[in-house]
Amino acid sequence: MRIAIVGAGISGLATAHLLHPEHEVTVFEAGELAGGHANTVRVDTEDATHDVDTGFIVFNDRNYPQFEKLLARLHVASQPSNMSFGVSDGGDFEYTGSSANGLFAKRAHLVTPWFHRMVFDLVKFNRNARTLLATGGEGPSLGHWLDEGDYSEPFVERLIVPQASAVWSADPRQMWTFPARFLVEFFDNHGMLGFAKRPQWRTISGGSRSYVDAITASLRDLRLATPVRSITRDADGVTVDGERFDEVVIATHSDQALKMLGEDATERERELLGAIPYQPNEAVLHTDTRLLPRRKRAWASWNYHLLPEPTGMTTVTYHMNRLQALTADREFCVTLNRGDAIDPGKVLRRFSYAHPVFTRDGAKAQARWHEISGVNRTHFAGAYWRWGFHEDGVVSAARVAEHFGARL
Ligand SMILES: Cc1cc2nc3c(=O)[nH]c(=O)nc-3n(C[C@H](O)[C@H](O)[C@H](O)COP(=O)(O)OP(=O)(O)OC[C@H]3O[C@@H](n4cnc5c(N)ncnc54)[C@H](O)[C@@H]3O)c2cc1C
Repeated sequence: MRIAIVGAGISGLATAHLLHPEHEVTVFEAGELAGGHANTVRVDTEDATHDVDTGFIVFNDRNYPQFEKLLARLHVASQPSNMSFGVSDGGDFEYTGSSANGLFAKRAHLVTPWFHRMVFDLVKFNRNARTLLATGGEGPSLGHWLDEGDYSEPFVERLIVPQASAVWSADPRQMWTFPARFLVEFFDNHGMLGFAKRPQWRTISGGSRSYVDAITASLRDLRLATPVRSITRDADGVTVDGERFDEVVIATHSDQALKMLGEDATERERELLGAIPYQPNEAVLHTDTRLLPRRKRAWASWNYHLLPEPTGMTTVTYHMNRLQALTADREFCVTLNRGDAIDPGKVLRRFSYAHPVFTRDGAKAQARWHEISGVNRTHFAGAYWRWGFHEDGVVSAARVAEHFGARL
């Protein structure tokens, strides 16, 4: 078959990888490079070259089985990563959960009762989470569930909401309406409830571009810097910007998919794709250590910024030296949504990414994927069909490929 794949992020690339041996595949990518959120930047310093990831960074040995299978097929190597989470208000309040030294990075917290309560509330949270997991039904929103649990304000504001906001790159206020079960299941799957059973986090050796290059090397028709503007379907085929195909796989974000389909979108496509919107996030690659906690012992791999005024977006700095085990004479950081706070002289690159916004309606729409995919010569892939992570992109691709008889 002649198949058009729109979007060369993990979802489109994995689909192309699975379909190209048996089909005539054309991949359309709006960007100058393939990879989408897998976006490694090469930085030359005086005496070394560093491949720094700015979007997708880590996966683990428990929750990414399909992605690991893909890496094995491609013979792409990965290495252990260092994952830790910390919170700081840019002033004197800061901690990281990675060690007792980091937790009490600010020594006065050793004798601060509300700080101890915050930590003990985490034990209660983990216990209550297990109970929630064991009960059936849709379950409450996170806000409602936390209210019922009678947690201290510091626990909610300075621990659990920052963590959830950072994991999903979501507006901290949005977390109130987030389905509690969705969050708790995710935390459970990722070994984040308690200290036992933590998975080993990994990162791609040489940056995520390594696997992107391995996939694109074998694609015969990859068209970069070619944004698709219009897709129409009829009984005999699909027209993608005037060119005819037998089928189309739309592997962009849900809102981008709807835009391309325009007037041709069916009511059901509008309903389901519209239920999973995206939110923009600005990412800046820089070397300004002022965006890390003041005390070095409070530095974590993921450093959440507690801001006095809500900005409607998550604010976090990834410490890339730690995450990718970079040995460099400077600290490489990727900061989300705090562009103004970074010394312009230390900015290396700026990017505009977007993350899916998950709601209860979105979760219901995800379950109805089959109502619009595999129908009308059209297929939908994208990380937004599950949790929004790399594994989800591969799972969505494998699901589409299965329709064509290909398996990972
Ligand atoms: C800063 C950041 C950090 C992250 N860290 C992690 C992490 O550590 N681990 C993890 O698992 N996930 C992480 N993620 C989540 C990440 O978004 C997903 O893992 C995954 O990369 C999303 O893949 P995708 O294929 O669904 O979308 P994308 O990667 O966004 O790909 C969509 C592609 O479609 C293209 N496109 C859009 N419109 C058109 C058009 N009209 N025509 C042609 N092409 C078009 C885009 O240019 C893009 O290349 C992170 C995301 C960000 C932004």
